Amino acid sequence: MNILNYSEDHMAFRQGFKQYIETHVSPHGPTWEANGIVPPDAWKRMGEAGYLCTWVPEQYHGKGLDFLYSVIVMEELVKAGQSGFMASLHSDIIVPYIASYGSDAIKEKYLPGCVSGEIITAVAMTEPNAGSDLTAMAATVVEDDNGYILNGSKTFISNGINCNLAVIAARDPKIDDPYAALSLFVVADGTPGFTKGNKLAKMGLRSQDTAELFFSDCRIPKENLLGQKGNGFMMLMEKLQQERLVCAVSAVAGAEAVVEHTIDQARSMKNAMGKPLTKAQDVTFALVEMTTRIKMARTFVDMLVADHMDGKNMVIETSMAKYHTTDTLKEITYRAMDLLGEFGLDDTSFLARSMRDGRIMTIFAGTNEIMKEICAKFMGL
Ligand SMILES: Cc1cc2nc3c(=O)[nH]c(=O)nc-3n(C[C@H](O)[C@H](O)[C@H](O)COP(=O)(O)OP(=O)(O)OC[C@H]3O[C@@H](n4cnc5c(N)ncnc54)[C@H](O)[C@@H]3O)c2cc1C
Repeated sequence: MNILNYSEDHMAFRQGFKQYIETHVSPHGPTWEANGIVPPDAWKRMGEAGYLCTWVPEQYHGKGLDFLYSVIVMEELVKAGQSGFMASLHSDIIVPYIASYGSDAIKEKYLPGCVSGEIITAVAMTEPNAGSDLTAMAATVVEDDNGYILNGSKTFISNGINCNLAVIAARDPKIDDPYAALSLFVVADGTPGFTKGNKLAKMGLRSQDTAELFFSDCRIPKENLLGQKGNGFMMLMEKLQQERLVCAVSAVAGAEAVVEHTIDQARSMKNAMGKPLTKAQDVTFALVEMTTRIKMARTFVDMLVADHMDGKNMVIETSMAKYHTTDTLKEITYRAMDLLGEFGLDDTSFLARSMRDGRIMTIFAGTNEIMKEICAKFMGL
């Protein structure tokens, strides 16, 4: 069943991007993983090739393409085992804040750079004592005649080292209601008082630079406020739907790639009795079950992508999709590892990398427990 109507143009774009990854991304993957970062030049190359922020309107130097082009970029990077190059975080999670809530001046100033890859973005909500519970955020922002003064620290921020523009959430200490106190700002690298901490060493997504950010009397101009003051929580909630969908699309693509890879490997391996693995019933049943789970997840996620493109509000469904697909990816990579044994355990193997990278997905973008909390709340339970 074809839920998403990919046109000839979409398919040509996918083919071009696959070739781009083969030539310009995959050969560098091991070095980027070893260095813990994708260098800014690689981002610029992606931008020049037209694979960043494809949806941004032409007025801001984008191509104004539909969400399916974004989906293609997400899927192909994951399928190539290059999840650490988080182009989709930049293109489809962070830049939309700037496009939706930035003033015309901010959009003119920053969007062309986001498209070209000259600007790499980060979004900073999490703090040492505020992860799932955003109301516990301690970073403060105080307004005066000249703008805003930001103080506090953020942790586990993706693109934290590379970012030259960060969307920061902070609260007004004079407002007691934690929801009404939250505002969002863009802060450019180099702003006095904005410093970056160490790159955090992670078990997965190793080429993704995750870091702490610090703000000490960091002065932000008035025009860097996104949307209305005090509307930060509402803006985050609005954009989290697409963020969860990006996770779900990536998780399904990752799981499909793992099963394809496992079937290929299993065909060429023999069990203790000298039979090809794919002739042993326990293995074939495992592969069938894994494929069934993925096909069901794919159907659900494609349907959500279609509904999202139609502008439908799907808080419950996108939360379900985020937790279900990332759990599926996690369980499938573990099962594939059991099937392939030492072959999969090789640290440099596709499967080992998929397992490490996929494992993180149940935690970021809202943990899977929080997804269930949201579903329960919106289902009136
Ligand atoms: C690789 C990576 C990249 C990240 N990138 C970013 C980024 O770019 N920007 C950013 O702002 N953040 C980022 N994060 C942070 C991420 O969003 C948080 O880790 C996540 O929200 C969970 O917060 P926490 O780790 O503080 O866990 P906690 O909130 O402390 O939760 C700990 C455990 O308790 C559970 N729990 C908490 N509250 C409840 C509840 N009410 N009901 C049931 N269970 C609950 C959680 O599910 C979890 O299992 C990133 C994290 C990782 C791992």
